[in-house]
Amino acid sequence: MVIILFGAPGVGKGTQAALLAQRMGVGHLSTGDEFRKAIDNQTEVGKLAKRYVDAGDLVPDDVVARIVEEALEQPQYNSGVILDGFPRSIAQAEALDRMLTQHNKEISYVVNINVDSEAVVQRLLARGRKDDKEDIIRHRMNVYNNETAPLLEYYSKLGSKLKNADGNADVEEVYNRIREVIS
Ligand code: AMP
Repeated sequence: MVIILFGAPGVGKGTQAALLAQRMGVGHLSTGDEFRKAIDNQTEVGKLAKRYVDAGDLVPDDVVARIVEEALEQPQYNSGVILDGFPRSIAQAEALDRMLTQHNKEISYVVNINVDSEAVVQRLLARGRKDDKEDIIRHRMNVYNNETAPLLEYYSKLGSKLKNADGNADVEEVYNRIREVIS
């Protein structure tokens, strides 16, 4: 079971990925969380990633692919994984395809969560993470539109495995909507 939660910053991917992983008994892999941990621990990856994360830019694809590849070797992902914040570029999606092919796995679903864009900015401002300043939020939105949103076209090759879920509702309601489209 490999599920990609897709959507702009602030649509609720992290919250929903955590719930899905817990309730479905699979692993949750958030590349953003991996980078924040690496930055806190001042690892090599952390030192490399810091300026990109602080600025709201994408960490280079090769660095991202490396941490995902290493993470997926861990036993907590044997039963499946909810990918949260990865892939974010065509190159990353291609790298993921190669990794999955190597492990004889495939994408089960891509769930695109939609939320009205002003609501998203307000949610992020309320969250108050270090990169949740208004100018950086707007920059992350632009990065999403330019580099990440084109993945929807890339994943159209998945046909009916590409799903949409309306994220304009409370956490449990959005969770139910996601469960509905992946059942
Ligand atoms: P997130 O927690 O998903 O909002 O990610 C926070 C930040 O981590 C992003 O603004 C990027 O700087 C970096 N990041 C997380 N995932 C990726 C990814 N798949 N590719 C490139 N950068 C990423």
